[in-house]
Amino acid sequence: MSNWQRVDDETAMLAFGASLARQFPSGGLITLHGDLGAGKTTLVRGLLRELGHTGNVKSPTYTLVEPYYLAGRDIYHFDLYRLGEPEELEYMGIRDYLRPDALCLVEWPEKAAGYLPKADLRIHIRHCGAARDILLE
Ligand code: ADP
Ligand code: MG
Repeated sequence: MSNWQRVDDETAMLAFGASLARQFPSGGLITLHGDLGAGKTTLVRGLLRELGHTGNVKSPTYTLVEPYYLAGRDIYHFDLYRLGEPEELEYMGIRDYLRPDALCLVEWPEKAAGYLPKADLRIHIRHCGAARDILLE
């Protein structure tokens, strides 16, 4: 069963991220699945802005994780695209981030292989012409 939703443009993607922030008031693990340029970081930017973040949202491509403290909780934005081996997650102390009180948003979770627990929400994004389709799982 699939229930893909059309997200027309960047503005709509930011709004989608914002709505997720409201639906996800506590901690948890959200994984973002989709190709380069799918809009994963854009969605995260919408979520962070909804929670009060006003600055840039840089993709943590080289640092792997960018921490935020917003609306009274820790939020960790991961981009694992450049992760060499899943074992590196041990060295970076992944378990300290995956606390029940923290919200973790992970781009390229496939790179983590068995090092991430089951996600509370998986977000699949795919290109549909110039727009995008999103599936929540
Ligand atoms: P990713 O993090 O998945 O690599 P980005 O969030 O960096 O992708 O987005 C890549 C590009 O796609 C950006 O230029 C962004 O404006 C654009 N974009 C994001 N969402 C949409 C959408 N729903 N429709 C069209 N373009 C989008
Ligand atoms: Mg990205």
